[in-house]
Amino acid sequence: MNVLVINCGSSSIKYQVVDTEASSALVKGKIERLNGAESYDQALKDITDAVSGYRIDAIGHRVVHGGDHFSMPQLIDNAMLAMIESCVPLAPLHNPANLTGINAARKILTGVPHVAVFDTAFHSRMPRRALTYAIDAELADSLKIRRYGFHGISHAYVAQKAAEYLGSATNQLRLVTCHLGNGASACAVEFGTSTETSMGMTPLEGLVMGTRCGDIDPAAVLKLVREKGYSTEEVEHLLNRQSGLLGLSGISKDLRDIEAKAAEGNERARLSIAVFSHRVRKYIGAYAATMGGIDAVVLTGGIGENSVLMRRRILQRLEFLGLMLDHDRNNDCRVSHEQPVAEICADHSRVRALVVATDEELMIARQTETVINAQSVFAERKVIPIAVHPCHVHLSRETFEQLFGKDAGLTKAEETFQPGQYVCRERVNLIGPRDRIDGVSVVGPLRERDQIEITRDEEFRLGVDAPVRPSGQVDGSAPITVEGPLGRVHLSEGLICARRHIHMSNEEAEHLGIHSGDEVEVAITGGSRDLVFRQVLVRISPDYRLEMHIDIDEASSAGLPIDPDGTYCRFGGGENIKAEILRHSYRTY
Ligand code: ADP
Repeated sequence: MNVLVINCGSSSIKYQVVDTEASSALVKGKIERLNGAESYDQALKDITDAVSGYRIDAIGHRVVHGGDHFSMPQLIDNAMLAMIESCVPLAPLHNPANLTGINAARKILTGVPHVAVFDTAFHSRMPRRALTYAIDAELADSLKIRRYGFHGISHAYVAQKAAEYLGSATNQLRLVTCHLGNGASACAVEFGTSTETSMGMTPLEGLVMGTRCGDIDPAAVLKLVREKGYSTEEVEHLLNRQSGLLGLSGISKDLRDIEAKAAEGNERARLSIAVFSHRVRKYIGAYAATMGGIDAVVLTGGIGENSVLMRRRILQRLEFLGLMLDHDRNNDCRVSHEQPVAEICADHSRVRALVVATDEELMIARQTETVINAQSVFAERKVIPIAVHPCHVHLSRETFEQLFGKDAGLTKAEETFQPGQYVCRERVNLIGPRDRIDGVSVVGPLRERDQIEITRDEEFRLGVDAPVRPSGQVDGSAPITVEGPLGRVHLSEGLICARRHIHMSNEEAEHLGIHSGDEVEVAITGGSRDLVFRQVLVRISPDYRLEMHIDIDEASSAGLPIDPDGTYCRFGGGENIKAEILRHSYRTY
């Protein structure tokens, strides 16, 4: 597919025709010094002329702020444009230009689908504890003051590239990705999901940037207003355009100029480099803590890809985390479109350090292609039985023996629909810092690792922060104490909220054109409250039988008639209740 990618800034438009099969640009360019809607109309005409020699199958527009409306890229129509418009107050410096570009392009490039790809979307699954600011909750709610995060297109792309390089998948890894360009942000990519990022309600928060200040005490802003009489616009200008590396150094926003001056002994230039790198190091450490460990740190953007000095300053003294920088590899590191990934850590470094050349246009093109392809996937409605899982535990042999004794064995109480999986008579109690849950079922057979699955509601009851994870991914998950007839075992990890998912056999998946790890949108009807679930993970294995797994919270949200005592139940037969796959939830991340 050939996708025309349009990236509209406040005074310029970058464009590129990307051949998604070859992952390469057929033509690209930039039109600068734009001012007013008419100049954008003219610029789009010029772009149309410049790309007229190529077949264009779709157009992908970058949109900076999707607010809380968009967790995925989306086909543009008038209704969704109105939603982008509603995000303008959140991003007055960015969204108006994006909208002007989209409107101009839709006037000229008719008959081709247009897709919006959002910088915020990758972060849309951040847990509430990460996206909430500690201010008056009602005020925050009414003004939509919360953390959204940006640079998502780049973070998602480099995380994917890093995973490919490591011979793994993003949903098997905990990464800290650092996009360090004129704008800069760090992101905790926890098993494929962004769970923390340094930019907040706007791209102003977090790391030091070319001209933006990043983290600052809000009281400093008040001081400027009070003592200098600054207007809103003046403060906005100061913090967005006159701060960061430029404000610190008084030399330039370009790190190359600052590095040159620092080498000559310029004190402000040296301090700028120290403040910038210190801030990035601080976030890497913080995200290692929030994720309960990391597998790799990924650096990208003009600074991450090119500055040997900054990479060394950022990655120094991280040995305690298991990351050993290799200075020769760092000095020799070059990345490019052809060689997009380089490793700069020592062979024995447990945590890898990678430099990845980002390619946001390619990512926008790929996501656009995914949206277009997803339109037609599920012409056939597939009805899926639903299993509702209450809180339950999978135990390792070691834990089981400590709780029930060396000679004990599991006793089957009830087969589940998945071959070989059964609910046992054995029960355990879960003891959290706040409260306990008694009589929790053990699900057999015994596994390699302990895994305790609770709902969001139970997470609050126990008083723990359990991550939402696909089953099987317990590294760095929450600790919990489990009690059995022989006493208590404290597990340092294993507690998760399981992601809703569908079990599917290989034949069924092939028939529907779904791949393992895809996400689909599923409608549940026939309960007292019909509900569409997005982000339903599909898990495929020859041993699986078609079934959707949700927890008690999710079942009660859909108004399913579940047992109030919360036992395992299933809807798959004669009742009206059914789940149907509507379409792919565009697996873009
Ligand atoms: P944007 O966020 O606008 O896409 P880039 O990713 O192009 O920005 O990054 C621009 C930054 O990268 C500038 O601060 C520039 O100084 C820095 N940079 C580019 N090349 C080098 C280099 N060789 N050494 C140090 N810094 C560099």
